[in-house]
Amino acid sequence: MSNIIDGKSIAEEIRTSIKERVSKMKETMNINPSLTVILVGDNPASQVYVRNKERACIEVGIDSNIIRMSEKTSEQELLDTIQKLNEDRSVHGILVQLPLPEQINEDKIIAAIDPNKDVDGFHPINRGKLFAGEKSLEPCTPMGIIRLLDHIGYEIEGKNAVIIGRSNIVGKPVALMLLKRNATVTIVHTRTKDIKSITQTADILVVAVGRAKIVDSSYIKEGAVVIDVGINRLDGKLCGDVDFDDVKDKAGYITPVPRGVGPMTIAMLLENTLTAAEGIK
Ligand code: NAP
Repeated sequence: MSNIIDGKSIAEEIRTSIKERVSKMKETMNINPSLTVILVGDNPASQVYVRNKERACIEVGIDSNIIRMSEKTSEQELLDTIQKLNEDRSVHGILVQLPLPEQINEDKIIAAIDPNKDVDGFHPINRGKLFAGEKSLEPCTPMGIIRLLDHIGYEIEGKNAVIIGRSNIVGKPVALMLLKRNATVTIVHTRTKDIKSITQTADILVVAVGRAKIVDSSYIKEGAVVIDVGINRLDGKLCGDVDFDDVKDKAGYITPVPRGVGPMTIAMLLENTLTAAEGIK
């Protein structure tokens, strides 16, 4: 029997403690933490994500500002907007919602954000610090995964961790974070031969692929912790990359989709905003 990791309620607990930190910060330090999100164009999914982020900020008392720019915005206009926000001392966190329209180079935009305000943790300096094992603003989804493991009291050190997927936003950073916590880490991907023989050795299996239910119980070692990052739509319903019903009895712990990793991502964004407001120590 596996234990289902209830990411939604863990994220709620974290948001409650963030709310307390925010009010303390306002009282004792006279700082009003604030996040500005830039949304370029009208991608419907991005609009939902941005609204959710705004709602989460409001709930914990973080000032939230959304800058909406047209689909036709030039790269220079966006760079100018970021520059103003970089210079604005009342803005602590800046997030540019991705994807951007094709005329805008995403890497250039991310690199233009002040690394101390980069609450997505995507700036090359923050990526480099994570690589070097130094303190930095870290990407939210991988941070959320580590928090889930900590929340269930799972000892990461010395464990075999396998990650399926090597994206810059999930697979690679979570691998570095697990390595920092002294796991033995393997990343597998589309060119890996015999993936199952590797995943079957995993005490911790993180799946960040983006293909509905691709991982079934034959991939899993009995008692493993299975973290499902995927968000897919199948027959009109949300599901993960893991076939939850098939895996849940073999895994020691498993995250569901929805109510697993997803809610942690936003909670970590709020936390990064506070870290940015406090100044990274
Ligand atoms: P991505 O950039 O598309 O990367 C997918 C990775 O999976 C790639 O490294 C790819 O390998 C690998 N892959 C694809 N098919 C595979 C297969 N059959 N076997 C082994 N590896 C395979 O995706 P992402 O941005 O990391 O996102 C992954 C999933 O997580 C998506 O469903 C996304 O929506 C979700 N997500 C959720 C959250 C959240 O907050 N819950 C946050 C971010 C992403 P190659 O490199 O060899 O192509």
